[in-house]
Amino acid sequence: MRVADGVEVLEITQEMQGRTATICPALLWDDRDVVLVDAGFPGQLELFRAAMARAGKPMDKLTKIVITHHDLDHIGSLPEVVAAAPGVRVLAAEGERPYIQGERTPIKMTPEGVAQLTAGLPPEQVAERQKAAAARLASMTLPKARVDEVFKPGDELPICGGLVVIGTPGHTPDHISLYHKPSRTLIAGDALTADNGRLNGPPTGPTLDMPHALRSLRSFASYDIAAVIAYHGGLVRAGIRERLAEISGSG
Ligand SMILES: [Zn+2]
Repeated sequence: MRVADGVEVLEITQEMQGRTATICPALLWDDRDVVLVDAGFPGQLELFRAAMARAGKPMDKLTKIVITHHDLDHIGSLPEVVAAAPGVRVLAAEGERPYIQGERTPIKMTPEGVAQLTAGLPPEQVAERQKAAAARLASMTLPKARVDEVFKPGDELPICGGLVVIGTPGHTPDHISLYHKPSRTLIAGDALTADNGRLNGPPTGPTLDMPHALRSLRSFASYDIAAVIAYHGGLVRAGIRERLAEISGSG
């Protein structure tokens, strides 16, 4: 779906465990670059290839991939996409790099991460989730890819007319969102979700520190935002300022 000149929302839909899961990575381009933001669940290379072709930007033209955070639904197909796009460079926040490169266990699969996500649940459910996470970790090959460039919150990347890195910790400690200046599009990653064109808060299940994630939303207030792309939920054009104030509790 076209958002503006040089901005498209890719819609990647797949049956998973009996239900349909859609993710909405952003694709940006100008004369020099084609940039993908986040790289899907494991095994989605061909879905990305087809979605990019439909957008008129074949995968072999990709020059950069920016990662908002290292959750498996955001870096799952990163190694395969990197292999399919010669010369592509991967960019991420410093704090996310060791996870993306496979040097650290994904934060939400560690005992500490599971404890944080299950805080408040009955002990037997916590124990069950701990066991499930350990089993999953033992049974899977984690995606990993080299990060070529790191950035920090506040940086303005000289990409596609200016891409501002906004630190939005909470979902993960080093989660970032991106503001594309020419189109005034906020690429929220998992700082926000959306449902049928309405903005909602961060995903409730997998957000490590919800109060922090909600506080992070206040940093969006200083931007003039024409459209939001939520990775889970897609494009939002209406009621952005009002919903941000409501969700972050400052409205
Ligand atoms: Zn996600």
